[in-house]
Amino acid sequence: SFAADVVPKAPEDPLFGLMTAYRADTFEKKVDLGIGAYRDDNAKPWVLPVVKKADAVLRSDPNLDHEYLPIAGLQQFTSASQKLILGKNSPAISEKRVASLQTISGTGAVHLGALFLKKFYRPGQTSSVYFSSPTWANHNQIFSNVNLPITTYPYFSAKTRGLDFDGMLSSIKSAPEGSIILLHACAHNPTGVDPTQDQWKQVAEVMKARNLFPFFDCAYQGFASGDLARDGWAISYFVEQGFELVVAQSYAKNFGLYGERAGCFHFVAAPASDATDVATRVASQLAILQRSEISNPPAYGARIASLVLNDPALFAMWEEDLRTMSSRIIEMRKALRSKLEELGTPGTWNHITDQIGMFSFTGLTEAQVQKLRADSHIYMTKNGRVSMAGINTNNVQYVAEAINKIVR
Ligand code: PLP
Repeated sequence: SFAADVVPKAPEDPLFGLMTAYRADTFEKKVDLGIGAYRDDNAKPWVLPVVKKADAVLRSDPNLDHEYLPIAGLQQFTSASQKLILGKNSPAISEKRVASLQTISGTGAVHLGALFLKKFYRPGQTSSVYFSSPTWANHNQIFSNVNLPITTYPYFSAKTRGLDFDGMLSSIKSAPEGSIILLHACAHNPTGVDPTQDQWKQVAEVMKARNLFPFFDCAYQGFASGDLARDGWAISYFVEQGFELVVAQSYAKNFGLYGERAGCFHFVAAPASDATDVATRVASQLAILQRSEISNPPAYGARIASLVLNDPALFAMWEEDLRTMSSRIIEMRKALRSKLEELGTPGTWNHITDQIGMFSFTGLTEAQVQKLRADSHIYMTKNGRVSMAGINTNNVQYVAEAINKIVR
């Protein structure tokens, strides 16, 4: 049967292990800077007011049932999701060259995309997928599970704690033709470092010239800057440039619908006379893959998001909620940086405010991270990534003092 050398014990998922350790800690001033979920100023999960409203509408509907959704998901949800991510006036939508399926949040969308590419992308040729170094750890697992070869492009400069743009661009330039390049649309996880619009344009130019395939992972639209169009800019720019591409879209963070698993996968065909036909055929194959994987996606989160996305008044409320979350995080970046600077903490701390989105790559070493946990009960991943959402007006001084102490 399954001897230990056949099924060895796997290590615990580092992030979820961290969460368990935090929960077991009884120290009053403990701080959770691990998990990537928004917290309010009292360190509590925040149900978006617009989600409460949509929830109440759903619950008051006497006809609400629990039937299966179609294989491709809730149609009003996937079509609103296309508009959100590509822009409502996107030529790709009016030319009917987008295939969209509702997925198990962003993870499911990344997985469906990986599975689809493994099965249909450049048959008979081996194409690698390029990840930023570093990237969201799950990218490695998802793409290796479908046996797509993985390689990396430089991304984060340890020296500047910003983007290693030259490294990124020259690595992409030298990728074999047809390689798949995974790009974080905004609020890069784990570094919080994004290319500027001008840098995105250069990446697009190189990728076009080298015939590379963009795979966008978009888990933080509206959450980074508070502006949906701005956070989705890179994707619409690439579509404008005529790329054939795919997008994994998550509603976990921007709707606070983490556990409801609402997301979408989009395939965009390049503009061509047969583009609608390409999208239709791709959609039919995606439906078969979806059927064997999950049969059909979960309904509740998609119903909530769909109500909001399709109602102008609720949509405006949602934008307000996005500004509430993103601006609280931006304020906490400012506060942490200024407290570290006030304390004269060795090193430079501008990267805390230069970085964007849920995470900050602090530059703390693994040993320092361990010491922060042992001495001050502050929990973060061992690569020194801090979830800014875990910082609030009550603990920012405590966190700054603790960091100040250990870097000396
Ligand atoms: N992609 C990235 C880069 C992420 O950071 C996340 C969440 O942390 C996801 C995808 C997917 O998250 P979910 O499956 O909860 O939507």
